[in-house]
Amino acid sequence: MPPHRDRTEPKVPAGGADAPAATGRPPGEAPFPRFIGRTGKSLGALRYFPPNAGMHPAASAADPQTTGERGAAMRALRLMRWNSEPELVELPEPEPGPGQVVIRVGGAGACHSDLHLMHDFQPGQMPWDPPFTLGHENAGWVHALGEGVTGLEIGQPVAVYGPWGCGFCERCRVGVETYCENTSASPAPGGGGGLGADGGMSEFMLIPHPRFLVPLPDGLDPVSAAPITDAGLTPYHAIRRSWGKLPPGSTAVVIGVGGLGHMGVQILKATTAARIIAVDTREAALKLALASGADQALLSGKDTAAEIRSATGGRGADVILDFVGSDATLAMAGAAARMVGDITIVGIAGGTLPVSFFSPPYEVSVQSTYWGSRPELIEVLDLAARGLVSPTIVTYPLERAVEAYRRLQAGELSGRAVITPS
Ligand SMILES: [Zn+2]
Ligand SMILES: [Zn+2]
Repeated sequence: MPPHRDRTEPKVPAGGADAPAATGRPPGEAPFPRFIGRTGKSLGALRYFPPNAGMHPAASAADPQTTGERGAAMRALRLMRWNSEPELVELPEPEPGPGQVVIRVGGAGACHSDLHLMHDFQPGQMPWDPPFTLGHENAGWVHALGEGVTGLEIGQPVAVYGPWGCGFCERCRVGVETYCENTSASPAPGGGGGLGADGGMSEFMLIPHPRFLVPLPDGLDPVSAAPITDAGLTPYHAIRRSWGKLPPGSTAVVIGVGGLGHMGVQILKATTAARIIAVDTREAALKLALASGADQALLSGKDTAAEIRSATGGRGADVILDFVGSDATLAMAGAAARMVGDITIVGIAGGTLPVSFFSPPYEVSVQSTYWGSRPELIEVLDLAARGLVSPTIVTYPLERAVEAYRRLQAGELSGRAVITPS
């Protein structure tokens, strides 16, 4: 048994878990998907947590706190094995154990990292294995409360905070569960619902602890809120930490204007007075950047760094957010940064940036970021509820979710695909 085990984590069926606990990951090393995908290295033997834990197929006596039939079957889009497309299957509806919550899912975003889950991993490479239900950007309505859960009401709209840590380490206590330092005690080490544990691409989703639920502010419905929990939260976190370097007169550069990048432009516009320069290789993306609030859009090429320098009076950009993260984009960032600026790597292309006394410019900080914190999710949901950020959304019913992923893979989606199981 690992120490600091969360009392409220889902129950584990007999013979399931309690494999030897070992984190396998040095403190501070980021969880899924970046390091694992980038280096291909195994995280070692982590405690296996059965994805169906907490599901009890047998119907219980009528529960006055819930609506709907207990023990009923529901549909779920599951990754059944590595290197495969997910399948639509029937599962028993989950029931909340003590301290847990079940939500009816209103929206589950189809994220690019799910394509990595489907195609880029081998058994033993991740701390968990299929089968599990996909969908790690989720929102819905409270459906059933486990024993002892207070502060939530049946039918209340909520967003799900996706990265599930242990809940007890210093990072988790301040809400930064992305950087949990005791992941062996979390529901799915380095992951969460849709990443090792069952996610939101099903009619109902088990939430192992109420702290993972954020009530939706007025003006935001679950379909619109779902992509905010990842495609909004990830750029928000990356930008927020650099706010101090983005006063009036500063310049922020967004490299890569896709799902996260266009949200990044909107968030910069909504929360800073910086001038925003967007860079992409695609004309359509530059149009999206300008429509999202960018002041200038540059087609990426060998002279882009020089163009950024000349657009900033020779000083360079104060903050550069790289939503691609390749060798080429990082070299551009290094050449375009202002002294004492920030270069933040959000994209998982796995490129490198040589750092020496001579470059990048003096006191430039280079950092990678992963997802965001619970308090930041509350903040970015507020931005969305007030219409200050608004992802472009295309909805798909659950039975067409595989098609949504295929279109995502083919680059045919404009905006975020959100699956609507309910
Ligand atoms: Zn994602
Ligand atoms: Zn933790």
